[in-house]
Amino acid sequence: MPVAVMVLALFLPIAGIAWEVESLNFKPGFNLFSSQQDVQLGKETAAEVDSSYPLVTDPQVLRYINDLGRRLAAFAPNNDLAYAWTFKVINSSDINAFALPGGYIYVNRGAMEAAEDEAQIAGVMAHESAHVVMRHGTHEASQALVAQAPLAILGGILGQSGSLTARLTELGLNLGVNSILLKNSRRAESQADEVGTYILYRAGYDPHAMAQFFEMVEKKYPQKTIQLISDHPAPENRINAVDREIPLLGPAQGWKTDSPEFEGAKKRLLSLPAAPGAKSAPSTLAGSAGPPPAPSSRLTKFEGTDFSIAYPDNWQVQQSEDAVAFFPPGGIVDVAESGAAQAYGASISRFQPQRSREGKWGLVDATEELLDTLRPSNPALRVIEQRGMNLKGRSALSTLLETDSPLPGQKERDLLVTARQSNSLFSLILIAPQSTFDAYKPTFDAMLESLELQ
Ligand SMILES: [Zn+2]
Repeated sequence: MPVAVMVLALFLPIAGIAWEVESLNFKPGFNLFSSQQDVQLGKETAAEVDSSYPLVTDPQVLRYINDLGRRLAAFAPNNDLAYAWTFKVINSSDINAFALPGGYIYVNRGAMEAAEDEAQIAGVMAHESAHVVMRHGTHEASQALVAQAPLAILGGILGQSGSLTARLTELGLNLGVNSILLKNSRRAESQADEVGTYILYRAGYDPHAMAQFFEMVEKKYPQKTIQLISDHPAPENRINAVDREIPLLGPAQGWKTDSPEFEGAKKRLLSLPAAPGAKSAPSTLAGSAGPPPAPSSRLTKFEGTDFSIAYPDNWQVQQSEDAVAFFPPGGIVDVAESGAAQAYGASISRFQPQRSREGKWGLVDATEELLDTLRPSNPALRVIEQRGMNLKGRSALSTLLETDSPLPGQKERDLLVTARQSNSLFSLILIAPQSTFDAYKPTFDAMLESLELQ
């Protein structure tokens, strides 16, 4: 019996909302793994994350995030004693967070610094904890296994000992940091919102805080949130959904919003040396650093999970949950309120069209929908030209855009290339200030030429 329903029954002995109560009957989906295997898989993947991302090691910050995380997890439905509930902070200014199966949760430093109070960061963590208890990662992996390796399942391969990751990789399942374990469906994201809001409420926080955080981030740090918005439900939908859910949770309380511990941990983070990557790139904001060096004509190849692309070998690569950015030194600039934005380079992400029925969307409409999600944060965004193109036999759309550059007083040109990949919209944005776009054009052409989608 899910705890959620019992609690609701106590709070809401009202007839006529049965279907809504039903929708709060949080039940994990189909899964071939045991919760112990979630933990094993999470642990193996966490080791990979720990060795490939810079982590914040400050004891005060870690103590705070683990205390808060465990306090929240205690209110999660379908919690399992096996879950590790280990929280780490990635030393990146990107505003992001992700959860691995079994309770290994990573929050980016950028997310903690952006949160305006404890309730907001608790909202992010409650959402990620929801992915853990709803077992979204291994649910996705289970579905892929059924499709790809049904015989292995019959053969009981999951029950054998040794590295689970290695066995699954043998079966053709792509696991690891940028893998199926983190590719949550839109439905899983909405469910994580629902469960996360419930956890917030039960832990005594303002249950609006999670959706508010996403809305605040989208408004305040538009350039940093492309990946956050592209694989999470659009903020307005989120807020509406949460607003519908909250009255079902119970009466309004004296909700907790902030704590001295949060303010202390945030202050501590802000006092630490800047995160590597984005922040270590010289800022062109001051005008003293000047433009980035010209892109090298020597290209190097980046292999993504389902695409590859070549990029100049003097550029850096920054990967997050579902997006990859390529940029020259100085290509990421500081903008107001401690945010950072990409002024030069390329960015690849995926977008899930919502407006049309599942799977039945056209490239032009889906691209328009993607542009609509960018417009609120890019009010000057304008389409200059759009035309069809061919990406090694796959039909694609090339859209030339103009918007305001994060460089003060400058306009920006973006070449957006979109194509259908599986059921989502693959998007590549090539970015440069308008004044230098032509100089970057040969590099952009070479990158496009090299792009391969699987
Ligand atoms: Zn999520």
